[in-house]
Amino acid sequence: MDNLIDEFLNKRIEDNNLRTLIPISSRNNVKIIINNKEYIDFSSNDYLGLSSHPEMIERGKKAYEKYGASSTGSRLLSGDSDLFHELEDKIAEFKNKEAGLIFNSGYQANVGIISTLCEKGDIVFLDKLSHASIIDGVLLSSAKLMRFKHNDMEHLENLLKKERSKYRDALIISESIFSMDGDKAPLKELVDLKNKYNCHLMVDEAHATGIFGKNGAGLVEEEGLSDQMDLIMGTFGKALGSFGAYLACSDKIKQFLINKCRSFIYSTALPPSVIACNIKSMELVKKEPFRRKKLLETAKFFKESLLQKGIKIKSDSQIIPIVVGDNKNAIKLSNKMKENGFLVMPIRYPTVPKGKARIRLSLTYNHENDVLKKIMNLL
Ligand SMILES: *Cc1c(COP(=O)(O)O)cnc(C)c1O
Repeated sequence: MDNLIDEFLNKRIEDNNLRTLIPISSRNNVKIIINNKEYIDFSSNDYLGLSSHPEMIERGKKAYEKYGASSTGSRLLSGDSDLFHELEDKIAEFKNKEAGLIFNSGYQANVGIISTLCEKGDIVFLDKLSHASIIDGVLLSSAKLMRFKHNDMEHLENLLKKERSKYRDALIISESIFSMDGDKAPLKELVDLKNKYNCHLMVDEAHATGIFGKNGAGLVEEEGLSDQMDLIMGTFGKALGSFGAYLACSDKIKQFLINKCRSFIYSTALPPSVIACNIKSMELVKKEPFRRKKLLETAKFFKESLLQKGIKIKSDSQIIPIVVGDNKNAIKLSNKMKENGFLVMPIRYPTVPKGKARIRLSLTYNHENDVLKKIMNLL
């Protein structure tokens, strides 16, 4: 084992690809302290700035006092509470589906949902840029895995034509807003292909929830396609400023997962304080639409200003990837940002494909124009 570990770590160092942890000692919205020095954070997923919202903190505190620090066990034991049911009803309504189901994290949701619903003899079609949790879910399922070129519907249709009939059930999975590129999936075309080739369709709205759509429910809402989706998942840890994940689906699928999904069953339920914050975050998305409006305006302004400087960004969202290709350059750019008081982490293989290293700026509600202008000039 030691040899394997040394080899791996040495290779990571050689490739400028070693990861290390950076402890943040305090946080005030986008202002963070590292080693007694203040930085503006451009790497968080707290897109709406809800993690520090006074109402969130108040709601969490109340739940701590009422229920204690722990859920005390799996929801199938005595870890369930009325808070989960309130949140699941809210999710179902928000996503316009029959039912909602809460998971401990987006990672556990994807791994659990996909590996429970797909079996040997089934086939799953994934976008090449799918999040690791989606890939791991398929690998755990023993279903056949096929990957189509990013957002390439022609490639997907070719694979469907060739492979679909050889398998019992087929599932197509895509993110609605892609986490590392910030672009949109062609949801309408995915729906058409799903119907044409008799598949199920699952969408991961981790980076769209709270931001897109009239009510902030996501890109599926914005495009009016919730009826056509079999499974819509998303997280509370990104724009919703809290922690955990949800699935919106039919009642039947929910019952099935409660009975069979191992990441749901064999794990202590999220603490009541977290669930209370999740409920509050959904109320805030409803009550304070100005947050998502400002965020999308900021993103538009930012991309237009970069274009004027000759930097073209392909993103459709608040996620701004600046692809530099090689790991060394990504690290250099990230260090340059840090010297100037901005935390912008480099993103490297295997998070993104080899040769596509980048820095990735996550814009949030709390990034003000003067800060944006400064970082733009630096770029
Ligand atoms: C972050 C993310 C997840 C995982 O969610 P967590 O709650 O952080 O575990 C799943 N899918 C996508 C697309 C993500 O970006």
